[in-house]
Amino acid sequence: MKFADLGLSDELLKSVTDAGYDEPTPIQAQAIPSVLMMRDIIGIAQTGTGKTAGFVLPMIDILAHGRRRALMPRSLILEPTRELAAQVAENFEKYGKNHDLKMALLIGGVQMGDQVKALQEGVDVLIATPGRLMDLFERGKILLTGCELLVIDEADRMLDMGFIPDIESICSKLPAQRQTLLFSATMPPPIKKLADRFLSNPKSIEV
Ligand code: AMP
Repeated sequence: MKFADLGLSDELLKSVTDAGYDEPTPIQAQAIPSVLMMRDIIGIAQTGTGKTAGFVLPMIDILAHGRRRALMPRSLILEPTRELAAQVAENFEKYGKNHDLKMALLIGGVQMGDQVKALQEGVDVLIATPGRLMDLFERGKILLTGCELLVIDEADRMLDMGFIPDIESICSKLPAQRQTLLFSATMPPPIKKLADRFLSNPKSIEV
């Protein structure tokens, strides 16, 4: 399988070449075409499999070719820890360098001021930990009604950290008509239940 066969735009293929990747990893080969076809996905994959590019690359293509909405974020990536959120933000910047997409990294342990300012200026994608996102939402600083693409990454770690109630609450604030991608290294029953409730006809991918 080649990156060129997955349906990504030429700009994204250039980002992939610039990143030095020769061929897609198995999760990328399976996830990227499905994400571009607007399918919901359950990806059973560990860190290190290349899953981040598996959702970030098609997300950039979807955002770059969709219509921008004034001030409303159009996509949300949830990560269990600040470190993972920061890593995904780095990936987003690396792969999205040829696109004019705005991102806000919403994590705890840093002042809210800059995050609020970024939100007020308008962003395309939020990369967030559940706690800080809920906090900003409850303060009325975020509108989630335009988020039509949601990624729940490392779902089993979210479960271990007690984030499932926050995730359920966040999911219910997003539009019902949306695309949801869930990634997890394992599928314990509470994650299966979460997927049954919030994903629609998902394609399962296991690597
Ligand atoms: P992840 O599992 O998303 O944390 O990615 C693990 C590492 O694999 C990261 O350092 C990526 O830069 C790298 N990577 C992602 N996709 C590819 C690819 N297709 N070929 C080679 N390396 C990759």
